[in-house]
Amino acid sequence: MSKRVVLIGHPVAHSLSAAMQQAAFDSSGIDAKYELWDRAPIALADAIEEVRGDEFLGANVTIPHKERVVPLIDKLTEEAQATGAVNTLTREGRRLVGHNTDVPGFNVALDKLVGRQKMPRQAVVLGAGGGARAVVYGLIRAGFQRVIVFNRHLHRAEGLVRHFGRTASHMDLKAMPWHDSIIESELAKTKVLINATSIGLANDESPVPTEVLTGDLLVLDLIYSRTRLLRGAESAGAVALDGETMLLHQGAAAFALWTGQAAPLEVMSEALAAARADGVRSAEGEPAGDAGAPVPEAASPAG
Ligand code: NDP
Repeated sequence: MSKRVVLIGHPVAHSLSAAMQQAAFDSSGIDAKYELWDRAPIALADAIEEVRGDEFLGANVTIPHKERVVPLIDKLTEEAQATGAVNTLTREGRRLVGHNTDVPGFNVALDKLVGRQKMPRQAVVLGAGGGARAVVYGLIRAGFQRVIVFNRHLHRAEGLVRHFGRTASHMDLKAMPWHDSIIESELAKTKVLINATSIGLANDESPVPTEVLTGDLLVLDLIYSRTRLLRGAESAGAVALDGETMLLHQGAAAFALWTGQAAPLEVMSEALAAARADGVRSAEGEPAGDAGAPVPEAASPAG
């Protein structure tokens, strides 16, 4: 019987994940179909019930459900527990396990960004959504000692910092209000800047004025294109990396979880490039109206 893997999001009309995962199944001789399920929040619980069936290898979960899905599943991995966000589901019989492969995906991107330099210890993170949670946890795991989180709605950044309370008790993890002057003064003390907001996704805007970018920065934008932020960073002489590496490696980790096989990275990377050349954007970060609103914190796994 042909197996199924689904991407549950809202909206999911065009997805880079679909291109990359289907190519991976096909090239590995795995008889599986990657489907897109556009499910509004109200339909999420039913979708999760359906994925418990035998024909499913698992699922991906994306905006706006990564945090909402947590209480609907049975078991969380360490990364999912720590971030409070799930982007991949696997099945153990009818039980569902929630993983967060954005974390290892981010860590691969961070290593690529830093290259041969010594791993820095200080970072500025813009954004406090699901992506930012994976980033902050990845930075904690990479040994960062000071991480400052800026977000348009400060309370969400404060919620993120509270969420990591104990995990980050050995370090300086702080939320700060979004003011250009405060961001500039923090950037002067740091080496790594990560954009985990969706500013620059749908229009050519930068989350920070180009003038605050200096040549010694390492700048990662989670958005999968050469954003205004990245162009500004390059002009300043900084190292700049877009979100494709993270996307590819979170997908590779998910593929390995569903199939028990190593992911065909080259095939996936080529499929991503081809889909991007065709103008496909992932569901990640596309405007989802009210559905994109933050969900309450403190969700915990069921059962
Ligand atoms: P969320 O919806 O959870 O969070 C969106 C974030 O962007 C929030 O911090 C929000 O701030 C901020 N934001 C949105 N619009 C504005 C604005 N106009 N001004 C200021 N801040 C704004 O999304 P995710 O965290 O899941 O995704 C964020 C970005 O990261 C997206 O672009 C997504 O594509 C990308 N991403 C990439 C991944 C990859 O593999 N490369 C993986 C995950 C995400 P506020 O809370 O104040 O609304």
